[in-house]
Amino acid sequence: MVCGMRKTQYLFFAIIVLTSALAVHNARKNAAEYFIDYYSNRIDLSYQFALKKTGFVADLLYRQYEEAIGKMLHEYDRAIADEKSGIREKMLDTFMPVYENSQELGLRQLQFHLADGMNLIRFHKPEMYGEPLMPFRKSIRIVNETQKFVSGFEAGRFWTGFRFIYPVFFNGRFLGSVEMGFDFDAIKREMSTYTISHSIMTLKKDIIEKTLLNKEDIKNYQPCKINNNFIVEKNYRPLLGQHLKQCKWLYANISHVREAMDTLRPFNRVIRKNNEFNLIHFLSVKDIAGQRVGYIITVLNNIDAPPLSYFFYAKIVIGALGLILFMLYWNHRINKLNLDLKHKSDELKILSITDALTRQYNRFKAEAILLNEFERFKRYGGKICVLLLDIDKFKAVNDTFGHEIGDKVLIEFSALIKRNLRRVDVLGRWGGEEFIVICPGTSLENGVKVAENLRSRVQGNCFAPVSEVTVSIGVSVFHEDDHAHADAVKRADNALYQSKHSGRNRVSCIAGDIQADKCL
Ligand code: GH3
Ligand code: MG
Ligand code: MG
Repeated sequence: MVCGMRKTQYLFFAIIVLTSALAVHNARKNAAEYFIDYYSNRIDLSYQFALKKTGFVADLLYRQYEEAIGKMLHEYDRAIADEKSGIREKMLDTFMPVYENSQELGLRQLQFHLADGMNLIRFHKPEMYGEPLMPFRKSIRIVNETQKFVSGFEAGRFWTGFRFIYPVFFNGRFLGSVEMGFDFDAIKREMSTYTISHSIMTLKKDIIEKTLLNKEDIKNYQPCKINNNFIVEKNYRPLLGQHLKQCKWLYANISHVREAMDTLRPFNRVIRKNNEFNLIHFLSVKDIAGQRVGYIITVLNNIDAPPLSYFFYAKIVIGALGLILFMLYWNHRINKLNLDLKHKSDELKILSITDALTRQYNRFKAEAILLNEFERFKRYGGKICVLLLDIDKFKAVNDTFGHEIGDKVLIEFSALIKRNLRRVDVLGRWGGEEFIVICPGTSLENGVKVAENLRSRVQGNCFAPVSEVTVSIGVSVFHEDDHAHADAVKRADNALYQSKHSGRNRVSCIAGDIQADKCL
């Protein structure tokens, strides 16, 4: 039982320790996940901020020249065919310096378009003009149809870009549009002011190919190293550059990343080394029409997951200690209850074999011992003597002195008998004022001697206030041809009857017994 408790204890200890470890592990995992969410959200926000800020720059630029451009487009619109090229030249001369000076702000394209979607001037490629853009450029279509400002990322005839297209009016008449395109460097620069990060933009090759003026212009792009379906502008740094050295994992899991990229949906990859994280964030870029066209891949290196607070560890330790203390207390309680139970069960065991009045063995126990001795006798032989004792005229004691004195006599009587027996002899109350004595290793002859000794001790004892108490005894031994222990008891009972019959206060063994001649 106690051993069982120990095992349960160890199991309980193990469960508490394991549960605590699991709680810490989960908390760390949750903290890391929260951390990754936090950083990827920050990157997404930085992209939104960068778009807004670039738009703000475009707005400032356009508002400055809005009136002048309106006037010139109006002039161009009203001019006869011969004059038109002169006016176009004038526009180029006037705004080329503006274009050139604005390049350091990230402005890559400045274009004037006519109301029918015809390209009038590309400041970044002045020699190319006069072709209709509506079939290729959704943004121009939208501006012409809605005559409202449009912005967003869009692939173009030569370059891709983040475009801001303003409708141009003169005296309320729509004359065309002014387009400003910023390259990804401008966006990236802004993004990195919000997060210390390194970004690259990669675009779906087939989408870009469709809008290019000349198919060979795809040479301005290089294949993306992670996924061949994607391309990166050549004048950008190689994809992820030195950061990939730290991101060996990306290459080790490249097929996994490749598949994720083909979906064009946003995702994150985390390269974890001990408690240090490298986050690779794949921000899905949508174009003006809302179509997903590629990714801004951002690498955040060596970001440390926030450590769990001491308060958290303290909670775990206190919780575990509380459970252990509870377990120890519970264990102590169970041990105490077990001990109590053992005492109670021992008590019960003693009670079940003890006579309540005389504190000697009861009949149940005496018979059990007798049976055991009989079995031993049958197997190994030897001598077992059985004495039945009956107090003479005990009823008279009760009648004369009362039941309580009778009880007292019974107690004193049994104690006297017990005192005068050997340790190996057994005394039991057989019922009422009758007792049985079992003497192992004792012949009938010696049994008779024992009985005689007991008889004379009783006679010589003063059971105050009773003047004289005597006892009659019948003696027998187990016989080889006995079938049961009761046979010897029966003979002893007969002998006892004989003692009573022949005057009481005497010892008898019946004539039929083997050594009857030796009976007194
Ligand atoms: P005999 O010499 O023939 O044995 O006469 P006796 O009076 O002893 O025998 P009997 O069987 O007539 O009476 C036995 C008495 O023992 C009757 C009963 O009230 C009394 N007795 C039995 N058990 C107890 C007991 O536990 N306490 C007391 N006080 N008396 C008991
Ligand atoms: Mg009797
Ligand atoms: Mg009697």
